[in-house]
Amino acid sequence: MAIGNSLSATILVVVLVVGARLPPATGASQGPSTLTSCLSSANLHPVSSSSSDYKADSLAFNRRLSYKPADIVFPASVQDVASAVTCASQAGIKVAARSGGHSYAANGIGGEDGSLVVDLKLLNSIKVTASTQTAQFGTGIRLGDLALGLFNGGKQAMAHGTCPYVGTGGHLGCGGFGFPSRNWGLALDAVIKAQVVLANGSIVTASATENQDLFFAIRGAAPSFGIVTSLTVKTHDAPSSNVMFHYVFNPLNATTAVNTFLAYQNYGANSAPPTLGMNVELDSGVFTMTGVYYGQKSDFAAVIKPLLDAVPQPPKSSSVKTYDWLGILKQLAGGDGSLNTTTKADTFDTFYAKSLMVAEDEHLTKAALTSFFNYLYGPGTKSDTSWFILADLWGGPGSAINAVSSTETAFSRRSTLYTFQFYASSSNSAPPYPSDGISFVDGMVNSITSEMPNTDFGMYNCYVDPQLSAAEAHTVYYGDDTTKRLETIKSQLDPKNTFSYPQAIGQ
Ligand SMILES: Cc1cc2nc3c(=O)[nH]c(=O)nc-3n(C[C@H](O)[C@H](O)[C@H](O)COP(=O)(O)OP(=O)(O)OC[C@H]3O[C@@H](n4cnc5c(N)ncnc54)[C@H](O)[C@@H]3O)c2cc1C
Repeated sequence: MAIGNSLSATILVVVLVVGARLPPATGASQGPSTLTSCLSSANLHPVSSSSSDYKADSLAFNRRLSYKPADIVFPASVQDVASAVTCASQAGIKVAARSGGHSYAANGIGGEDGSLVVDLKLLNSIKVTASTQTAQFGTGIRLGDLALGLFNGGKQAMAHGTCPYVGTGGHLGCGGFGFPSRNWGLALDAVIKAQVVLANGSIVTASATENQDLFFAIRGAAPSFGIVTSLTVKTHDAPSSNVMFHYVFNPLNATTAVNTFLAYQNYGANSAPPTLGMNVELDSGVFTMTGVYYGQKSDFAAVIKPLLDAVPQPPKSSSVKTYDWLGILKQLAGGDGSLNTTTKADTFDTFYAKSLMVAEDEHLTKAALTSFFNYLYGPGTKSDTSWFILADLWGGPGSAINAVSSTETAFSRRSTLYTFQFYASSSNSAPPYPSDGISFVDGMVNSITSEMPNTDFGMYNCYVDPQLSAAEAHTVYYGDDTTKRLETIKSQLDPKNTFSYPQAIGQ
């Protein structure tokens, strides 16, 4: 549907929710004190800079970054969210939604000073309808609680990331990769309907038949377009047999590491079935392949054989174990494996990370991999950061991620073979961050891209890199065509840039 048509549809389904409890708008931007009084008169109990909770409520998961929100609110209903957005619009204050607060750039607190933070933690209900294989949940729910809710509601499941504390609002708004994604798609591919609060305070539904442009935009670029308050998703029967494998190849020299990685790249591109999710993990001196085969253990040996036949040296050690669905989620969660995030406080980290998406039709060359491993086996051994790299397999034969057209969702990098994440923390996870940490991570990426200067590498929007300018970020996350389409939708749905942060569409 054309944008004009879809916007007319938006107007038709708008539910007007604001006004009665709010001071009248004057039209001019009025600033922070107006915001606070408007939020107070709407009974939203804003946490302001003078509040005793302000410091704790403003903390980002990534402690490398800290920003000062204008106010923080914890709405208990979608109408409260709409009132908060209306107050901010009237006061000329930008708005950031916060779901799990795990943005790498601290975008959940605005990614810069001065935003109204709308924390969604009270909107965390979930309703599973196993008979139709659908579920509806508030975007304040986190991944671990979502997974438990789906399973307890009729042994249902969906693809998503591994960390139980990551929020569904941010995760499904940018992508949402997990090992089942080659079989089931990204988490955002499961979305069939969303409830969204727009910049003008209206509450609308977005789906394949209502507000299609908004539906396109919130699946990959949600933070720039509104606050998604609830999502309806398609679910799957949780597989009962899940084979987890680890193959440890280290220590390796750079040459053998290159050839081992090339074996992985070829296997991923040509042989890995969609029921297999896996990655290569590199760490100081570490080279492991880890993953899950969603099937029977008796079939696994044949599935993995082409890879093990191709590596230059057999693994030094290995483990292959079968788990039920919750068992595999707990294994992948790390820590104590608890999926219930209400039992224990979230942790934090102090880090910088980047990503690189390697396309199906442009694999890394031997020269690029040689340069990369020389970097890891050189500067990588001397860094004072605690670092790791993951290369997650996304594409290959039958990948459900790449089966989706690149024009279907704002997440448009639909021809990725694997996605690298380059991540370096301070050694104790707490500030201060080492002064050379950012250049060390940049060096990892440059060691690859400098050998393939004409390649159009994408980057993954969920591993948001705050060092990029808005224009650079849009190019690598979305590509130019999707960016143009998003800019048009933005100018119509949020002309005053209420949903604004350093890399937002419309910057
Ligand atoms: C420890 C860790 C593990 C991770 N593992 C994975 C993984 O396995 N796979 C993967 O794909 N990614 C993974 N990620 C990345 C993760 O998907 C993103 O950081 C994601 O954006 C975090 O979402 P959040 O709700 O927790 O963060 P937030 O900081 O709350 O939000 C992130 C962004 O989304 C916006 N936002 C939040 N809620 C909404 C909403 N309801 N409507 C509109 N915008 C909203 C925020 O304003 C912000 O811009 C991981 C991140 C961390 C820190």
